[in-house]
Amino acid sequence: MTDQKTDPLYHREGHLHTHTTTLSSIAPLSSLPSTTQPLFKPPPSKTPYILTTPSTIFHAQGGGQPSDIGTITLTKPTPDGNDPKFTVHQVRKVDPSILHLGTFDPEEPTFTEQEVGLEVRQDIDVPTRVLHSRLHTGGHVLGLAIHLLSRAGEAGLPQDLKDGKASHYPGAAFVENVGLIPGDAKARIQEKVDELVSRDLGVAIHFWSGEDAGHKCISGLDGAAVGDGEEVRVVDIGGLGSYPCGGTHVKTLKELGRVVVRNIKRQKGISKVSYEVVDA
Ligand SMILES: [Zn+2]
Repeated sequence: MTDQKTDPLYHREGHLHTHTTTLSSIAPLSSLPSTTQPLFKPPPSKTPYILTTPSTIFHAQGGGQPSDIGTITLTKPTPDGNDPKFTVHQVRKVDPSILHLGTFDPEEPTFTEQEVGLEVRQDIDVPTRVLHSRLHTGGHVLGLAIHLLSRAGEAGLPQDLKDGKASHYPGAAFVENVGLIPGDAKARIQEKVDELVSRDLGVAIHFWSGEDAGHKCISGLDGAAVGDGEEVRVVDIGGLGSYPCGGTHVKTLKELGRVVVRNIKRQKGISKVSYEVVDA
């Protein structure tokens, strides 16, 4: 099943919450290659299965953003009258496939290999997706605020500060920069973030050539090439800054609520700025 290509529909249609597709494969997690199984942390109490579809709206874990969760159901119930429901717990990309790990309710598969090719409906859990998109976009805004202050030589930030790693997990979100951000820059960074959010800037997705993306993106292309074929998927914040990115985002910055800068830590020449998003 891991050689079937899955179209990551969320790259182009990032705001779909429901999607109809077909069932490509279904198999117990235990039947997957021993190298693939450890990618998943199945829930302990039920037999985990892996399901694939030709296209998916479920964001696969990666780029600092967790998986979506939700359900996959047959659009036409099985003849025995079951209401077939597969709860998706985790989604991982194993090129070229996207694998949905989940369990059946109550326990045994309510649909099987016999249903391959039949129509299924995907529903992502919307509050989870919205939180992940807010955290992810909030990370870009924080990175952009730091970048703008750095280039303006403000708040004691070095002008050659370089964009680094980022994580957008709830309760553990941060952006890193190569270079030292002084602790007392926190208030000015917060102010800059608030200013960007209050302008309600639009968040746009583009597909650029690798060359264009390398030139125009703030972070360059370091290990971040995502997109279809030769193209690189890029997120642009209000025309002020672009980043190569495979994640999901809000449409305009007002949806973020408030991005709160928590802490600035410096270690081995790297500054790590942690943050969270809260309702405005
Ligand atoms: Zn992003």
